[in-house]
Amino acid sequence: MEKYDVIIVGAGPAGLICAEKLGGTDLSVLLIEKDTVFGDKVCAGGLTRKVLSIFHFPDNIIEHKICKTAVHSPRRFSHAEPPEPIMITMDRKNLGSFQRARLDNTGVKILSGTRVTGIKDGSLKTSSGEEYRYKYLVGADGYASIVRRYLKMPVKKKLIGIQYIVPVPGLDPKLEIFLDNGHFNAWFGWIFPHKDKIAVGCCCDTRYLSSKKLKENFHRWLERKNIDISKAEYQSAPISYDYRGLEFGNVFLVGEAAGMASGLTGEGIYQSLVSGIEVAGYITGRKEVSEEMKFVLRYNRIQARVLRLLLFAGPFRRIIHELIIILMNNKRFKQIINKGFS
Ligand SMILES: Cc1cc2nc3c(=O)[nH]c(=O)nc-3n(C[C@H](O)[C@H](O)[C@H](O)COP(=O)(O)OP(=O)(O)OC[C@H]3O[C@@H](n4cnc5c(N)ncnc54)[C@H](O)[C@@H]3O)c2cc1C
Repeated sequence: MEKYDVIIVGAGPAGLICAEKLGGTDLSVLLIEKDTVFGDKVCAGGLTRKVLSIFHFPDNIIEHKICKTAVHSPRRFSHAEPPEPIMITMDRKNLGSFQRARLDNTGVKILSGTRVTGIKDGSLKTSSGEEYRYKYLVGADGYASIVRRYLKMPVKKKLIGIQYIVPVPGLDPKLEIFLDNGHFNAWFGWIFPHKDKIAVGCCCDTRYLSSKKLKENFHRWLERKNIDISKAEYQSAPISYDYRGLEFGNVFLVGEAAGMASGLTGEGIYQSLVSGIEVAGYITGRKEVSEEMKFVLRYNRIQARVLRLLLFAGPFRRIIHELIIILMNNKRFKQIINKGFS
């Protein structure tokens, strides 16, 4: 049985960055990914400005640097053109290849097209029948994490995200958010611009709105907005926001396996990256929580509070949505929102 100091399960943003940070240390690192393509994940592909403090992306993998945003409620809208891009959009496979390339010459061994099928104390088994021993195990395997299941930690707080990828040649790259209690309850609809296509979608926690009802509402909303989905691709995936910590003895969880996404917006890439870096730090001997991790936990806590308020508001939610737009048309408040979300 081969033995590694660290085995990372899953090569999404969290696993890849954790491997990158551990590569080049004197630890032996094995990264196991079930797919052969890195980053082929259902996602709207929006990376908020915070991610740019971690990576400097080459221009050829950025689809749009978004400087135009609009937030709508059923009766009002607020338009903004911030001086700096509020978000960039990217094909997730390009993000995967970009991160994968950063592992070249780091000494990290990568096994792709190999699924982890079983975990025991100190060892794991893969779909190819091999067994590997580990000193530290990192679960970076997303929503349905086998490592999290090994820790007997069910996912109770989750969203379902649904979206269509709609071809739109020559589009005006604008990020649009739709607060609409009647269709999306406390959550919202989104339009993220990509190269000659848009990701139009929505999400919700199925404890408050069933996925069947969300899908019906979404289709009704798409019809009202005259968005033609006849040539579009439908996608759907769950998102975990059930965070219970990163460190469990010699086993760690990062990214969505740790429930690091926001329960309000479904944003998870930034949180996955920060938690991946954090755990690499713990494995190499850092004891204290980093400022970046404290920021992410605070950021998610604020969003959880907003979500609770919106859920608690019940029928008054539509009034809160209108109030948000009124406030967003105030210059000072617009700046705060712009800063907070990006
Ligand atoms: C519809 C939708 C839209 C979204 N839009 C955005 C957005 O615009 N911006 C944003 O920031 N976030 C968005 N998210 C959330 C974001 O996609 C995730 O939070 C993010 O991908 C989590 O990264 P991760 O590395 O933790 O996990 P993942 O990206 O899920 O990666 C996990 C990896 O583990 C692998 N794996 C799983 N099980 C095994 C196993 N047993 N053995 C080996 N490998 C395994 C998988 O193949 C995968 O490559 C969206 C999510 C959805 C559903």
